[in-house]
Amino acid sequence: MQRFLIPVVLLAVAVLRADLVNCACDVARPETMEARSCSLCREAEKQNADVKVFFLKDANPSKPGRWLALPRIHPRSMDQLNNEQRAELWSAAIAKAKSLFDDQWAIAYNAPSVQTQCHVHVHIGKLIPGVETSQFITATKIEDIPVPAGGEGLWIHPQGNLFHVHSGEQITETVLER
Ligand SMILES: [Zn+2]
Ligand SMILES: [Zn+2]
Repeated sequence: MQRFLIPVVLLAVAVLRADLVNCACDVARPETMEARSCSLCREAEKQNADVKVFFLKDANPSKPGRWLALPRIHPRSMDQLNNEQRAELWSAAIAKAKSLFDDQWAIAYNAPSVQTQCHVHVHIGKLIPGVETSQFITATKIEDIPVPAGGEGLWIHPQGNLFHVHSGEQITETVLER
């Protein structure tokens, strides 16, 4: 009996893993938008209504080569976007990444549980050489990029005309040069 209890306990711990931030950003209640964790939501509200995806230079001065891509709408995490919205975000981010770094680009999505912002975003940067891992799938087109499983992050980089989609990690932006 004892040996069956252990996995159950581990599962409970995984489910209870708390997010770093309590997200209460509500555009209908301006006072809630003042929180630091809502700063990307505030940027989204500055965009024109016809904008679907926009870009921000990373505000962290220690990451001068980095950009963010974000939808104007307000999902907290990637799984809250529908297939079309997710494809729009990835295709805009990849186009921007290519324009900045040619075939050296990579895009990283951190797991929601390690994010300090309440608005879904992906990090665009230059792939650090030699960070390749074995946990990836090959995607032939943007629509093949999966929804990150189980609250994980993922990171993507080109492999010829294909993409590697790496999974199984929480903090992924560490594959990008600063
Ligand atoms: Zn938002
Ligand atoms: Zn790879």
